[in-house]
Amino acid sequence: MTAWALAQKKKNHTVALVPTMGCLHEGHLSLVDRAKQHGDVVVMSIFVNPMQFGPNEDLDAYPRQFEEDCTLAKERGVDLVFAPADSEMYGSRFQTSITVKDLSVGLCGVDRPGHFDGVATVVTKLFNITAADFAVFGEKDFQQLSIIRRLVDDLNMNVKIIPGPIVRETDGLAMSSRNKYLEGADREIALCLSRGISKAKDLVASGVAAVDQVLAEVEKIIAEAGASLEYAEIVDSGSLKKQEVIDDSSVLTVAAKIGGKVRLIDNSKIMS
Ligand code: AMP
Repeated sequence: MTAWALAQKKKNHTVALVPTMGCLHEGHLSLVDRAKQHGDVVVMSIFVNPMQFGPNEDLDAYPRQFEEDCTLAKERGVDLVFAPADSEMYGSRFQTSITVKDLSVGLCGVDRPGHFDGVATVVTKLFNITAADFAVFGEKDFQQLSIIRRLVDDLNMNVKIIPGPIVRETDGLAMSSRNKYLEGADREIALCLSRGISKAKDLVASGVAAVDQVLAEVEKIIAEAGASLEYAEIVDSGSLKKQEVIDDSSVLTVAAKIGGKVRLIDNSKIMS
């Protein structure tokens, strides 16, 4: 992988990386379009990173469809798919972990302790291995994007982070590899996340400024749908700190479990 990337650089080609865990959908592929706007060549990594899964999470059950992913990636213009084995990424002597402290503890960090250490560590490895000049990340994983921006800045990494907007199904559900797990009525129930966000935006647009009132409405929509809320918070988009007053930088971010097992996340700027 690195030899290929360095050979590209010798030809004065820039490298744009799209890191994924595979099971590709239009959300991932939209990031490839972004990557092509920035880099001369596009690398997609497909790696279900064991370091970012907790002991009781869905590492083994995580959906995998490698051959189909390669076809989709190629059709969309990816030049090279990098899909290392776990043992290549984490040899038996591996012992390094990167922590982006404050940004990693709230929101998803509460229910997934250690998750963002796994993300920060694997992303650092992927940047080094692929010699990426650009790396594209979806706003769907809003906390992850903030953490990676901080990581790159803090460690003076020579890679420019490009965000990509959330891609949704026509009914509003944010695309996710985990949507494959939604069975029967759960697919409909899952809409409560995007519905809650829309309602919150409407309330704010109509003049409601109290964070508690907006969040209470979101919580009600999620509870009535029969999903179990992990969190609904309004945070500053830069610091991820909870806000008391809604402003231009406010992001509403939500995580809920559907049918007791499928954990979904969604977010949106609340004043847009
Ligand atoms: P994953 O394979 O879930 O680790 O996601 C790989 C990349 O795709 C991450 O940067 C995600 O934020 C991004 N992504 C996942 N779903 C979406 C979506 N619906 N819209 C935009 N980007 C997405």
